[in-house]
Amino acid sequence: MIPPAFDYHAPRSVGEALSLLGSLGGDAKLLAGGHSLLPMMKLRFAQPGHLIDLNRIPELRGVCEDGGEVVIGAMTVENELIANAIVRAKAPLLSDAAKLIADPQVRNRGTIGGDIAHGDPANDHPALSIAVDASFVLQGPKGQRRVKAENFFLGTYSTALADDEILVSIRVPAFAAGTGWAYEKLKRKTGDWATAAAAVVLRLDGGKVSHVRIALTNLAPSALRAVDAEQALLGQPLNDATIRAAGAAAMAAVNPAADLRGDVEYKTAMAGQMVQRAIRAAAARCA
Ligand SMILES: Cc1cc2nc3c(=O)[nH]c(=O)nc-3n(C[C@H](O)[C@H](O)[C@H](O)COP(=O)(O)OP(=O)(O)OC[C@H]3O[C@@H](n4cnc5c(N)ncnc54)[C@H](O)[C@@H]3O)c2cc1C
Repeated sequence: MIPPAFDYHAPRSVGEALSLLGSLGGDAKLLAGGHSLLPMMKLRFAQPGHLIDLNRIPELRGVCEDGGEVVIGAMTVENELIANAIVRAKAPLLSDAAKLIADPQVRNRGTIGGDIAHGDPANDHPALSIAVDASFVLQGPKGQRRVKAENFFLGTYSTALADDEILVSIRVPAFAAGTGWAYEKLKRKTGDWATAAAAVVLRLDGGKVSHVRIALTNLAPSALRAVDAEQALLGQPLNDATIRAAGAAAMAAVNPAADLRGDVEYKTAMAGQMVQRAIRAAAARCA
């Protein structure tokens, strides 16, 4: 299918992109990897008159460290997340999980920023960002602001990003020594979105859970932090009973939509399973 006609703009800086966004208004869309936007245009779910391509803006790409945080440019592609030495060492959940996103072709072009900004509850980076306690740096005409991942996803395809803002970077606190992590993603086939997935970041102190973050993909209208599941573990030893209790708490929190991947009952049950598996896998990585 062919998308509707549009005018194409290729700014060379964030400032230039923001000026275009300001002057073209609601008729413009930012273009990153195009792997979500272009299918939506082909299906006529989006019909922007202008595309503002972010691919020629070097400041939006790459990874660095700053003040104990890993700073990932919004235009960094999935394959770079997988390969990047800083991400692998300091926020390894993101490298591991990126391998489970889509297929090699999509991972070559699809960006972390596009995955987040799209606001699709089936995308993996929203829950991953919540699990690693990331903040998003949004730049608009009045400057930059930071929004916690946990507060960014407002509903299906709805985020805290204003129409005149660009997501410029994702800031992730570097994992403390002894942190375990896991992303368990149930999917029908390679390259598919999650039927149900759980991201867990965990630390133990004296055999008890001293830090835990649990976030879920495609189990509610937006990525979900499973706070009650975290509470079931915090301060407790990890054993079959506490892990099962966390799984049950996650099942009580989800609100999945029935679709070709499964009905509500199945997805709810899989949420519990993915949470339990991810807790066990994360615990095995705690040094
Ligand atoms: C076959 C297939 C399988 C897939 N499987 C998965 C999967 O398993 N898991 C998963 O997470 N994703 C999956 N995806 C989606 C893929 O990861 C997309 O690349 C991603 O959702 C969007 O990133 P993008 O860079 O392609 O953004 P685009 O498609 O270019 O943009 C998406 C939206 O975000 C906006 N946007 C982009 N960048 C910015 C920015 N910096 N600031 C503000 N707004 C911005 C755009 O205007 C647009 O509205 C799949 C896609 C395909 C085609």
